[in-house]
Amino acid sequence: MEYPKVELHCHMDGAIPYRLFCKYCREDGLLKEDTSDEQWIEKHVMKDTMTLTECMGEFALLTGILQSSERLEELSYELIKDMCDAGTKLAELRFSPQSHVNEKLTMDEAVEAVLRGRKRALAERPEMVCGILLCMMNLGLNLGTMENNKYTVELAARYKDEGVVGIDLAGDECATPIQSYAPLFEYARSLGVNYTIHAGESGPAENVAFAIHQGGKRIGHGIHSIEDEKVVDELVNEGVLIEVSVTSNYFSRCVDSIASHPIRKLWDKGVMININTDDPGLMGINLKHEYDIIAKNFGFSEREFILSNLYSARGSFCKGKERIIEKLTKALKECA
Ligand SMILES: [Zn+2]
Repeated sequence: MEYPKVELHCHMDGAIPYRLFCKYCREDGLLKEDTSDEQWIEKHVMKDTMTLTECMGEFALLTGILQSSERLEELSYELIKDMCDAGTKLAELRFSPQSHVNEKLTMDEAVEAVLRGRKRALAERPEMVCGILLCMMNLGLNLGTMENNKYTVELAARYKDEGVVGIDLAGDECATPIQSYAPLFEYARSLGVNYTIHAGESGPAENVAFAIHQGGKRIGHGIHSIEDEKVVDELVNEGVLIEVSVTSNYFSRCVDSIASHPIRKLWDKGVMININTDDPGLMGINLKHEYDIIAKNFGFSEREFILSNLYSARGSFCKGKERIIEKLTKALKECA
């Protein structure tokens, strides 16, 4: 059955289409003439045999080639169109403005570039609903500063009517305690900025509890809630949607195997789940791949997928999501 897919957790840099990845790497002299695009992609797509350090190196490479407003605009433009053409009709894309700042580019300009790309893509794909989330970064790996995180909240408030739909806290969840970022969420609340928080991805159930207590209705990953029944109950009772990415969780060693992923257990306990790719370019996957492995390993039925998309659409921060909710409600009724 045809129904619109909803993807809310996708990092723009990690989702880069291969054609852009190779183009930028060639322009920057990283990809030499004697290497084909295919060989380059094969070398850089994440594999489950890579060490965490190697995986981090791939993220650094991506950030390195995305340091101009032209590329950020092109990436957002191409990515949104690609997602729409593959069946995703409601998407939230996220990126960290402070990761793209250099002598020529400010955080404001990085946001404006991404929004320009979004605007052009939506003009060509009017059936698509898409918003941008701005990521604050966990400070542990020197990927951000507290000052820039605070400014990220302010940017989200400033560009609220132009396509920015909220903020996120990303980076290595275990590098510094996520509890120390509470003042930033308080600040976001004071400015009317929505948020989702990476919590319970590599970190423990107590991080999920922290995210729930921040009052946000969305959590990035949240899978380690499974270790504490009380936290799972809270997710259900508070109506929190968790943004789950099965392959990503396996590649980043947050679960031992695909089969041991708690997605089915959490769903059966009544947790609302949104299915995502997280970093599809980097991991060599797409959303269909995630649906296929979830159907194969966890027996999700079409009805369950539609319901998951409906929960996701309701949990989205995007304006204009109502028409997607309507389509999904209709699809759910038609699906026996
Ligand atoms: Zn993520």
